[in-house]
Amino acid sequence: MTREEVFNFAAGPSTMPQRVLERAASELLNYKGTGVSVMEMSHRSAAFREIFDTAKASLRELLKVPESHEILLLQGGATLQFAAIPMNLLAGGVADYAVTGRFSARAAEEAKKYGTVHLAADTSATGHDRIPRQEELRLTEGANYFYYCANNTIYGTEWHYDPETDCPLVCDMSSDILTRPVDFSRYALVYAGAQKNMAPAGLTVVIVDRSLVGGELPYTPELMSYEAMIRTDSMLNTPPCWCIYMLGLTLDWIREEGGVEAMAERKRERAALLYDVLDSSRFYTPHARREDRSFMNVTFTTPSAELDAAFAAGAAKRGMISVKGHKSVGGIRASLYNAMPPEGARKLAEYMREFEKEHV
Ligand SMILES: *Cc1c(COP(=O)(O)O)cnc(C)c1O
Repeated sequence: MTREEVFNFAAGPSTMPQRVLERAASELLNYKGTGVSVMEMSHRSAAFREIFDTAKASLRELLKVPESHEILLLQGGATLQFAAIPMNLLAGGVADYAVTGRFSARAAEEAKKYGTVHLAADTSATGHDRIPRQEELRLTEGANYFYYCANNTIYGTEWHYDPETDCPLVCDMSSDILTRPVDFSRYALVYAGAQKNMAPAGLTVVIVDRSLVGGELPYTPELMSYEAMIRTDSMLNTPPCWCIYMLGLTLDWIREEGGVEAMAERKRERAALLYDVLDSSRFYTPHARREDRSFMNVTFTTPSAELDAAFAAGAAKRGMISVKGHKSVGGIRASLYNAMPPEGARKLAEYMREFEKEHV
């Protein structure tokens, strides 16, 4: 197939904006007359320094990150933050964790090694099909922080509110960063793996309130110490240079397209195309409860595992690839990140209607 024939619904790594890839291709062999590729450049060179500073400045501008917060560009994926967060911010204290999916469950398990974890909520009893209401949250007085995952990539649920707590908020925004405005003054720390909505895999963005760092456990690896990474401006060792360059291109694209406000509008429109089909169908069963469903990951099943497989195979034949659900949920998952054009969602919605007609 040609690139033009494919819409890529993969959950991560996922589709990148066409213009971003074209620009990267045009600069691949010779970056702005330096005679070398960004991949070949010293991370201490003036050309890379500019790429790095510009990407950071763009993140600050687009997300309106206040000066109180530092932006770190790290490695190790979102998963390394499951440990880094408690090592730096828990350090033997108590933290509240809302478990609403696989990634928050793993984060809570990891945190137990470094302090006391209270489960403020746990939606596993109903297969993580929903988000707890504010009144349901069991909050611990004096907790170091409250941890949650804003968008549950695997289950297709999303917090449509910022939890109200007396302690600092920590949030995994791996699959919804840059898809909506966020009030960062309310957050102690927000982090996101890049491969869903920002850049190739290998980069993790951490946005952390400077006033909360410095109390890490003594055996915290230097590379996982927020204090050390702030002090060295994320260059304690070689940063993921190519990913940071790609992040900068993606941020330019988001700015050109109208910023995170425009992304927020588009994600609603895209998801609505698929949810309209699900809401008017007795053939498909959505995984998430209506009020908690995700704008980024639309999850559902057909009447049988065989039909799920036939659906995914038929979609792939029509150029709509990677719609198979995560192995822990099964069924179908369509991931609709910023770079998914509305035509992709429209084409998938059309195919859903057609498939239903053929199989009822
Ligand atoms: C993908 C994902 C992760 C894991 O990311 P890695 O970079 O593979 O460690 C964590 N949390 C959420 C919400 C995700 O979508």
